[in-house]
Amino acid sequence: MGASTVLQNYINGVWCASTATTYLDVTNPATTEILAAVPLSPANEVDQAAQAAAAAFVTWRRTPATDRIQYLFKLKVLLEEHLHDLAQTITQECGKTLAESKGELQRAIENVEVACGIPILMQGYNSEDIARGIDETMIRQPLGVTAVIAPFNFPGMIPFWFIPYAIACGNTTILKPSERVPLTMQKVVQLLEQTGLPKGVINLVNGDKTVVDAILDHPLIRAISFVGSTPVAKYVYSRAAANGKRAQCQGGAKNPVIILPDADLAMTTRIMADSAFGCAGQRCLAASIALTIGEARQTFTDAIAEVAHTRVVGYGLDDGVQMGPVINAQSQARIEGLIQKGADEGATVLVDGRQPKIPHYGAGSFVRPTVLQNVDPAGEIARTEIFGPVLSLMHLETMDEAIALINSGQYGNMACLFTSSGAAARKFRYEAEAGNIGINIGVAAPMAFFPFSGWKDSFFGDLHGQGHQAIEFFTQTKVVVERWQDWTRQF
Ligand code: NAD
Repeated sequence: MGASTVLQNYINGVWCASTATTYLDVTNPATTEILAAVPLSPANEVDQAAQAAAAAFVTWRRTPATDRIQYLFKLKVLLEEHLHDLAQTITQECGKTLAESKGELQRAIENVEVACGIPILMQGYNSEDIARGIDETMIRQPLGVTAVIAPFNFPGMIPFWFIPYAIACGNTTILKPSERVPLTMQKVVQLLEQTGLPKGVINLVNGDKTVVDAILDHPLIRAISFVGSTPVAKYVYSRAAANGKRAQCQGGAKNPVIILPDADLAMTTRIMADSAFGCAGQRCLAASIALTIGEARQTFTDAIAEVAHTRVVGYGLDDGVQMGPVINAQSQARIEGLIQKGADEGATVLVDGRQPKIPHYGAGSFVRPTVLQNVDPAGEIARTEIFGPVLSLMHLETMDEAIALINSGQYGNMACLFTSSGAAARKFRYEAEAGNIGINIGVAAPMAFFPFSGWKDSFFGDLHGQGHQAIEFFTQTKVVVERWQDWTRQF
């Protein structure tokens, strides 16, 4: 990799140069080194990929599920063998620490493992004698060509919420990675190629909105899995639906966490720091608002401020670094502007991470952990997804008030509670309006065998990624009703 590396597309089992006229630099956000150039492919390259995927589907859907998953078993082994190299690539293009990059790859592998259970997961069901001599069977069949559109913040994991299930179910697929972090999937698709996967089953088209729009409008593409910001998720969902496609679109978030006075302070602080500042706050499950109740106001505020001050920030490949940069200079400027907005709305900037001096990486896009105190619950900063290492503190008198505040929010990706009370936990689990709930957990990320259950403006669609819902999404049900008139006759 280097400035002279020009990324290619992978269509019908062949790596091919795009005919793009525009290329973007892929830049290491810590060092500002240019890693490669990514093509912004034109719409006709999506058409080539869709044609290839449609042709491959004819044989792939007839390949027994037990044979299809052999490629996934091989992929799991290859991902494990190349884990270190892939993790380095994630850190280089996305900025997170090497440990965080390895963690997301582990999550990717778990999805491959679950999809290897397709022979049983994809089974239908049947009933004999729904009427005299008549039987009914439900079978699941793949849809055809599917597409996956990914965001920048988990270059190695998010495509795996969909691709293993799509292909294990017998579909073929087209992947469009984020144009900001296209390198990891370039390498993953090379590994998929090494498994011997038949040509056309997986295709990779690099690009931006032009590629997304071509996917949304292509008549051969049946289903779209999208992860990204809420405005784009909503746009993708509505345009896909208008074109008669199935869509699952995961959007943005603003994740509140309630801290009750009976919570274990040391554990809560450690977990909250990881949630709010891990991956530089660029997780859709990052804690972004801490709602302290009673005495937790003072104890938690002091403890989290101390951790925010002492977090080691730097280049994610360097030893001992706990937090890397944000994705680029525009993002840094946007985050710093929102911190100022919070101050303008009356918050105290208790720990100010703007314009840090990071030794050796002065040109990198860094924002240090930031803590805003007394944030106005009615202000813009309490409602806007910052997507950076900024934790907003608010104080309320009761958990009921905190739940009401949470439920008034636009998003519903995650809500968490820290407590030692089972009754409080039960009430919170029951009443909080979010699809991923954490109790004494700071990043309530579902394992691969559970759905990633965003609610409200954090998700558009009905079937989520991962687990059983992924199987539902990537298959269509067929019901067969059979009568054999002379079934009692002697044979
Ligand atoms: P983004 O919406 O800018 O981009 C996502 C994808 O959409 C990219 O592939 C991009 O090329 C494409 N895209 C961007 N603008 C488009 C447009 N106008 N029309 C068509 N396509 C367009 O998101 P991002 O900045 O890459 O990712 C961060 C966002 O993703 C945050 O809001 C975060 O919360 C969200 N996210 C959500 C989840 C979740 O599970 N809910 C997970 C990860 C990230």
